[in-house]
Amino acid sequence: MTHRVHRRFLASRVRTKKEIWRPDLSFHITKCNDTIIIEYSITTHSIQFVSIANHLQASAPVTFAAPNIFRFMFAARLRQQSLVLRPLTRSYSSIQKMAPKAAKRKAESAPKTSTKEVKRRKSTGSYEDELRKPHPWAKLAEENGIVQRKYYPPEMSTDRARAYIEEGLLRPMEELVRMQREYSEAINKVPDGDAMVHWFKSDLRCSDNKALSLASARAQEAGVPLIAVYLVSPQDFEAHITAPIRVDFILRTLKVLQDDLSKLDIPLYIETVDKRKQLPNRLMELMDEWGANHLFANLEYEVDELRRERGIIKSLADKGKSFQVVHDTCVVAPGELKSGSGNQYAVYTPWYRSWVAHIHNNLDLLELFDSPAKNPAKTRATLKHLFGCDIPSAPKGKTLTAEETKRFHAMWPCGEHEARKRLDKFCDERIGEYDDKRNIPSHAGTSNISVHLAAGTISARTCVRVARDRNKSKKLDGGLQGIQTWVSEVAWRDFYRHVMVRWPQVCMNKPFKPEFANVEWVYNEDHFKAWCEGKTGYPIVDAAMRQLNHTGYMHNRCRMVVASFLSKDLLLDWRKGERYFMENLIDGDVPSNSGGWGWSAGVGVDPQPYFRIFNPLRQSERFDPDGDYIRKWVPELKGLTNKEIHEPYGRGAGDKAKKNGYPKPVVEHAAARNRALAAYKAATTSDM
Ligand SMILES: Cc1cc2nc3c(=O)[nH]c(=O)nc-3n(C[C@H](O)[C@H](O)[C@H](O)COP(=O)(O)OP(=O)(O)OC[C@H]3O[C@@H](n4cnc5c(N)ncnc54)[C@H](O)[C@@H]3O)c2cc1C
Repeated sequence: MTHRVHRRFLASRVRTKKEIWRPDLSFHITKCNDTIIIEYSITTHSIQFVSIANHLQASAPVTFAAPNIFRFMFAARLRQQSLVLRPLTRSYSSIQKMAPKAAKRKAESAPKTSTKEVKRRKSTGSYEDELRKPHPWAKLAEENGIVQRKYYPPEMSTDRARAYIEEGLLRPMEELVRMQREYSEAINKVPDGDAMVHWFKSDLRCSDNKALSLASARAQEAGVPLIAVYLVSPQDFEAHITAPIRVDFILRTLKVLQDDLSKLDIPLYIETVDKRKQLPNRLMELMDEWGANHLFANLEYEVDELRRERGIIKSLADKGKSFQVVHDTCVVAPGELKSGSGNQYAVYTPWYRSWVAHIHNNLDLLELFDSPAKNPAKTRATLKHLFGCDIPSAPKGKTLTAEETKRFHAMWPCGEHEARKRLDKFCDERIGEYDDKRNIPSHAGTSNISVHLAAGTISARTCVRVARDRNKSKKLDGGLQGIQTWVSEVAWRDFYRHVMVRWPQVCMNKPFKPEFANVEWVYNEDHFKAWCEGKTGYPIVDAAMRQLNHTGYMHNRCRMVVASFLSKDLLLDWRKGERYFMENLIDGDVPSNSGGWGWSAGVGVDPQPYFRIFNPLRQSERFDPDGDYIRKWVPELKGLTNKEIHEPYGRGAGDKAKKNGYPKPVVEHAAARNRALAAYKAATTSDM
């Protein structure tokens, strides 16, 4: 009977043929309609998922080792950690023996992995301990500021990264979803309380904000006020390497947000919490103070945030309260799109096709969420103490000089109204030529909306919706080419978030392709300094770095050029460049930055292959043919001809360049290229 039910259930629900089993689970068996589901917990044991796809076809009977489990085994691991029971077909021990072989399964769209860890797991018998061992070069990562030991453990081993790839470790998102499921029944019964609370994080806007909209609707339904809260966490700014320019942008935006909310009689309570670990407790204390039982927030997909939110779900549920944390920042939520083999795509183009099709099939994904409704009029009196909070100044280490403050405020007006203005102007005036002009750094051909997407002053959904509505076609892959291309760029942002959720190691200083953790980077401080300061002797690289240092922004084409130059021409650890970007970008965004660096350094998801190395000279000639961009940012080269400017020392303008203090190239490209090819190649054959 179970078998029959199971098959029907699988037919409707299972999107994957990748069937997984692990021997050391603890179980929770429930019935959902007419289907029996096993949920597993991963609290205590070492974690080892092994594909048994082939074994499922076998027919020998079995006795399962765990006490309360009948003669069953798993047939599938469903999306939300539900496992459907199926009559056992092989003995526990025989499956265990076969596991390593099965682990060699072909993951169509997952990064290639070796079977080394599986063998090692088998030989040591202490897989969990082994996974905790740091990478042999962890000290280097620490000394070079890549891993901040004040907040994080040493760099993880390549085996641990592989365990995420091979589904040997539960991902933070899965842990969170599991927690949500565990408490869903209890949460549904939580009484309204005296207020609803929306917790702002990187969603600093009133329009089209899902969690805020839900919180407001619930407040209206319950007839209680909505309270908004933002907790400034200096340690999170430090741990996440948030650039001072970005911190300033966030703090300025809070004022706009506070004013907007105030017009709706909604207070925005702002407080600084010195210790990041204290933040959840403080949030809960505030809820107690306000008599609030329900907290709403949008999900952020970085590991720290997912783990923190998971903890808050549990802590609040244990107190009889609820935390609803929902997908909002992506147009399509991570996990929604699967390749034909049921895996997360690791290649952008098929992923994008699937993204477009998914939206076409679910047009409500482009419906915008209502702005919050006005609070009851008496709120101003009853919650008087929560209105008009001071906006804190930037914490230590994140301050700007007076000159920077003036410059950045003029360059980067903040707030959601400014974001929308910028989007509309771009769509009215420039989106049509986006396809042609987006790669020319001297031309304002892109939207410059990234700063707003990073702060959440506009949603990706609104961007796509507004662009689509300007198109002749309602199809995202139809109509005007400029609009199609722009939408496909916004989709990259979703893509990198989907990748981070599935392969969280990319958020933890590991390359997507594990073998590239073995590249022997050169830690040459002089070269790194020259790169940071825009003094490498490669004009296009220097112009780009100076643009970054002066404005907190860099054109996308140039981001690719300088990242390739750092990781390949200089053979510096790409993670130092990744960090420098976060330290300086106003639009610093962990998934996009890590994705962009992985792509450019050839170590990431769907990357530029490592043997395709950008030639900075060719890039310069192609994308800045008249040298306008270089002239703007490298004034030492202003007087050079269009030909000389790309390579002053190689094209007879060395004397002029030298006289104006412009440096000679720090490396010779052809030799550097060969060195990089050798180092990358060695890494792919290394046995570390
Ligand atoms: C090494 C490297 C590091 C990067 N770091 C970041 C970062 O920290 N934050 C960030 O927002 N983007 C990053 N990008 C992506 C891209 O450079 C910027 O999003 C883009 O330059 C922002 O300018 P814009 O808003 O005018 O973009 P437009 O060309 O107008 O594109 C619109 C939006 O689409 C998204 N987008 C476009 N290209 C990409 C891309 N390649 N990857 C992800 N999203 C994209 C952005 O949200 C962007 O605002 C990085 C790219 C590289 C190569």
